Amino acid sequence: MRAVVTGGAGFIGSHLCDHLISQGHQVVVLDDLSTGSADNLPAGENVELVRGSVLDRDLVDSVIRDSDVVYHLAAAVGVHNIVDKPLESLRINLDGTENVVEAAVQHRAPFMIASTSEVYGKNDADGLREDAVRVLGSPLLSRWSYAAAKGIDELLGYVHSTESGVPCVIVRFFNIVGPRQTGRYGMVVPRFVTQALANEPITVFGDGTQRRCFGSVHDVVPAITELMRTPAAYGRAVNLGGHEEVSIKGLADRIRELTSSTSETTFVPYEDAYGSGYEDMQRRMPDTGLARELIGFEPKYGLDDIIRSITDAR
Ligand code: UDP
Repeated sequence: MRAVVTGGAGFIGSHLCDHLISQGHQVVVLDDLSTGSADNLPAGENVELVRGSVLDRDLVDSVIRDSDVVYHLAAAVGVHNIVDKPLESLRINLDGTENVVEAAVQHRAPFMIASTSEVYGKNDADGLREDAVRVLGSPLLSRWSYAAAKGIDELLGYVHSTESGVPCVIVRFFNIVGPRQTGRYGMVVPRFVTQALANEPITVFGDGTQRRCFGSVHDVVPAITELMRTPAAYGRAVNLGGHEEVSIKGLADRIRELTSSTSETTFVPYEDAYGSGYEDMQRRMPDTGLARELIGFEPKYGLDDIIRSITDAR
């Protein structure tokens, strides 16, 4: 099979490429290397890097034309990108997805769309199911513009798939972490690990009582390809993530302990971290029952395993 991975030089995308290659597939990566890196990609004849943007419609079409399956992970990611470059982020996340979906449908290649737990917004339920209500602030606040764009991406994929009959699976990632993720764009775990290893202050934003549930990239990547092989998943949005919930302050403590660091924790007001008008989510916890039902998904890696996999790779 010839698989196209947009954003394949990025964090999740590059792990997906490794997995596809290990299964004997030929992989074509479309990536503009804005946040990803060619160093993330394995060497060899089974992978080809096409450097370019999903905004380049003709390029997207030519890459997808002869492919058997498309994994669309290219996106403007990370809170910093979204806040600093709102217009560019919006274009990549809306127009870029439209180009990819249209090409996939045109060439009748089944496609996967990477979405995010951000679509649930401030719904802090104990286990968010895929049909949970979305609680979003004003779309004029950059954080919610990202959630709004990803919601439209899901809809674009869903409607195109329904009308054309070309299979589509939407995957909602919940704080996926692991080796190769960079802290440059805001992601908390690589940032804390870097700070702890350097014995520098660990920067907890807000009071650190906000909670997240971190999932391992090594758990979710095999699940992505499995979902694409599962007809019952077509036309569905499926949560993927971990099971172990932790407060951000608790995460700082755990990382400090596992790295034997002497770092102190400093509490940084949200306004200093993200500028004014930023709203954080207090809690975000997935219900992965649908993934379990469809493909027997069961996360194997807990928080300590995940932190160790990152520190071991440094
Ligand atoms: N966060 C933090 N310190 C940092 C970076 C992030 O305390 O240096 C917090 C952030 O405010 C949020 C949580 O960690 O409450 C997770 O942030 P991330 O950007 O990784 O993911 P998301 O906000 O999308 O869940």
